[in-house]
Amino acid sequence: MKITRLTVFQTDLTLEHPYWLSGGRLKFETLDATFVKLDTDQGLVGWGEGTPWGHTYVPAHGPGIRAGIETMAPFLLGRDPRKTLDIERTMDLALPGHLYAKAPIDMACWDIKAHAPGLPIADLMGANFGTPAPIASSVGAKTVEETRTVLARYRDRGYIVHSVKIGGDPNRDIARIRDVEAHRPKAERILYDVNRAWTRQQALQVMRATEDLGVMYEQPCETLDDIAALRPLHAAPVSVDESLVTLQDATRIARDGLAEVFGLKLNRVGGLTRAARMRDIALAHGIDMFVMATGGSVLADTEALHLAATIPPEHLLGVWACQDMLTDDIAPGRGPRATNGHLHLADAPGLGVHPDEHLLTKVATYA
Ligand code: MG
Repeated sequence: MKITRLTVFQTDLTLEHPYWLSGGRLKFETLDATFVKLDTDQGLVGWGEGTPWGHTYVPAHGPGIRAGIETMAPFLLGRDPRKTLDIERTMDLALPGHLYAKAPIDMACWDIKAHAPGLPIADLMGANFGTPAPIASSVGAKTVEETRTVLARYRDRGYIVHSVKIGGDPNRDIARIRDVEAHRPKAERILYDVNRAWTRQQALQVMRATEDLGVMYEQPCETLDDIAALRPLHAAPVSVDESLVTLQDATRIARDGLAEVFGLKLNRVGGLTRAARMRDIALAHGIDMFVMATGGSVLADTEALHLAATIPPEHLLGVWACQDMLTDDIAPGRGPRATNGHLHLADAPGLGVHPDEHLLTKVATYA
């Protein structure tokens, strides 16, 4: 089987509510989404998506995905999309780094690879422990009152896992954490996501002031060095998210004991092929996981759900439904949809969802 054509589409996905990250540090209103369609000489078609969470969140750039695909396309034409390790190496030789630009190609290849035998991607990856998986909310609020309002909105929709975005003024963060913890139902799982916003001393201030609560912090500081430096100085469990990009990051976190949880985002780490290795490192070292899209439509959510389904449920803390935060739907009526705070993977071959091409703008064809 050979790739005969790469077609690239773009659309802007509008967020229903303007989204503030880390105590108001960064504001997001639309996401620049790239979709890739791979055609093959045997008639099988695969779809991939690359939607960074804006271009100020991590080093990932919507137009950069399209530029990266333009550079890699001549090397991908004629190759067998089912040989995902060969595709990975081909992309790495054509364009070192730029994992976020490679992720949609990897996703489209897995779609074809699983369509060929008629299996869901999760099954083809070797395990499907089943869903529904609980969806983590994304509470991008700034004040105690707003946090209560947004949490209530999610709870009304059945959410039992929450990612509360903090990382503003430390005293205000402490007040928000204490308020959330005072009102939380016991069965809920809540993660406080700092998104790198704190300096080391700010992180220590909040972590020590909340030690009695035993809450978990995600990505408290900018780098793994920062997180490592703080590690002996506090007792809080930690999840690493933005600093988990490469396999080397994963091995360092596991070896040096820097975190109890991996926040695996598919676009950031370069797709399913690479994320599966991180999953295995996590499982080998007793590290639990959140698995999610970096952003995007039901396609990106579905890709994450396939990886999530390969993780024994006791090690999977949650997934995410970015689609729920958007007013645009590029695959109406298709794919897994949030139901009572959970996402369920259908028993469909391949990715199991593809976009309506008429809702996208074609921007390039390579053949
Ligand atoms: Mg995070």
